[in-house]
Amino acid sequence: MKYKHIFIDLDRTIYDFDKSTHDTFLELFDKFGLYDRGVPFEQFFELYKKNNVDLWDQYREGKIAKKFLNVQRFDITLKKFGINDRAFAGRFASDYLINSPLKKSLFPNVIEVLEYLKPKYTLHIITNGFEEVQVSKLEANDLNKYFTTVTTSEEAKAKKPKRRIFEYAFKKADAKVEESLMIGDDLEVDILGALAVGMDGVYCNYDNIPHNGEVTFEIKEMLELKNIL
Ligand SMILES: [Mg+2]
Repeated sequence: MKYKHIFIDLDRTIYDFDKSTHDTFLELFDKFGLYDRGVPFEQFFELYKKNNVDLWDQYREGKIAKKFLNVQRFDITLKKFGINDRAFAGRFASDYLINSPLKKSLFPNVIEVLEYLKPKYTLHIITNGFEEVQVSKLEANDLNKYFTTVTTSEEAKAKKPKRRIFEYAFKKADAKVEESLMIGDDLEVDILGALAVGMDGVYCNYDNIPHNGEVTFEIKEMLELKNIL
């Protein structure tokens, strides 16, 4: 068997990040009285997602800090709906950070696949998420028992696709690059990052996005991993 260590991304690879955000927003809309203030939920959610992606790109490039990112993504979205109140955005943001990772929100068949992989390989997480958020998420979703190590970008002081986070994760896992495989949903961040350090990569292209990346494997759904591994 070629691979010994399998490194898996968390958000949008095994954890349905968009669903957990959506569910958390539904609760926070009630709690913070946003319906009463006339904010349309779905429009707010769509705009937030777009703002969040833009700000995460800046965060990944080291242009903005974590605290700023967290409040800013809510503040600029709320402003579009007439709520110009950074302190309010800050309260919304911290409630979101606490509650969202507590949601049980794994993609279908994740547990079946992890149960299949666990006796055959040593499993690890590499994630760009915030440390405390990812730790709560793994715990709330009962995932810790599957993973020998968890590397977050905060701990490694580098974010995927940077070489440094992968090298940090190999060291922590006591893994050799040639025995290691990366599984992730983001072609550039997870897979091209992994290939650049010499790992093989499985691109979880759940949305069937056209691309020209030369990936080792590509899957459309989690269960296909059982055919590859
Ligand atoms: Mg991801």
